[in-house]
Amino acid sequence: EIRHIPRPEDWPGRLERLFYCMNGLAEKHTVDCSIVIPVYNEETNIRLLLPELQEVLDNLHKTYEIIFVDDGSSDNTTKIITEAAQQRPEIKLITLRRNFGQTAAMSAGFDAAVGDVIIPMDGDLQNDPNDIPKLLERIDEGYDVVSGWRINRQDKYWTRRLPSNLANRLISLTTNVHLHDYGCTLKAYRREVLQRIELYGEMHRFIPALASWIGVKVTEMPVNHRARTHGKSKYGISRTIHVILDLMTVKFLLSYSTKPIQIFGLLGLISMFSSVGLMAGVVYTRIRYDMVIANNSMFLLSVLFFILGIQFIGMGLLGEVIMRTYHESQGKPIYVVANTVNLPGYCPGLPG
Ligand code: UDP
Ligand code: MG
Repeated sequence: EIRHIPRPEDWPGRLERLFYCMNGLAEKHTVDCSIVIPVYNEETNIRLLLPELQEVLDNLHKTYEIIFVDDGSSDNTTKIITEAAQQRPEIKLITLRRNFGQTAAMSAGFDAAVGDVIIPMDGDLQNDPNDIPKLLERIDEGYDVVSGWRINRQDKYWTRRLPSNLANRLISLTTNVHLHDYGCTLKAYRREVLQRIELYGEMHRFIPALASWIGVKVTEMPVNHRARTHGKSKYGISRTIHVILDLMTVKFLLSYSTKPIQIFGLLGLISMFSSVGLMAGVVYTRIRYDMVIANNSMFLLSVLFFILGIQFIGMGLLGEVIMRTYHESQGKPIYVVANTVNLPGYCPGLPG
């Protein structure tokens, strides 16, 4: 049965909202494992993935749910999943109103998931369902997060593998969670790890780092990676740039009150002292030798750009924080649900 969730602005009032949430609580139950799959125009892949995934999960003899999040697909993705879900109640679908991006879609799935363990994966067959039992084994060993490591990553070298190798090094250097492959979607989380973590941008890869604040046992596990055979990748090199910019935000958010001002204050002081030093040099040569060195103006210009750069970074960080505060204070969601299948009582935006 397809349930249409009214848009928040259409809800008559808070009471109505409360009703929706309580309805959700009343019907709440858990399963052993939730698979969360964001999909954006993956019709061919889903047809092949579903039987493969179900076979693996059925052999586990655990209770499970497969939550697809349709991130504004315009092909038959929605139709195929809806049909599958109508036959099997453990297949669930959240359709977003438009394309919100992989992280937001994943977040929608996390909010709906009721599994003790939550496993996100790609819907394009690049992650291998056969790795799921192994991930669960590691969770049973006592880890809170098991992160997949695509040792034989099947993506283009120059635009994907090389930049993401560099980004991985950088993330490992700057956060206290050391992994080889942060970007791998296939990971396993205990549900409590995902609570209270706000995701946006390209942030899904920083969940382990963000979660490290509450104290988690993280491990990495080699997983199989398969080349994309159907449909197109939605990302190129620009993704790595987004990742690096998001990394700065994560650093900032993790480092609380004093560190940012220490870092930026120090940089600011250094640049101010050097500009004063340069100015003194210019004045000295003017008085002592009565000459103007033409290159000085160029040098000053570069100093000026240096200071500008610092200001931009600082403003970018401030902007991020203000935006985050704004989002939180407005209760503005990072995704909006159009409708759901097999998710009665699901209240968008609230943890499952
Ligand atoms: N995806 C999504 N929304 C987007 C882009 C991608 O839900 O805006 C899904 C996509 O359908 C796939 C997964 O995210 O299931 C990974 O995307 P993709 O394969 O394009 O990324 P890559 O493997 O190239 O990093
Ligand atoms: Mg892919």
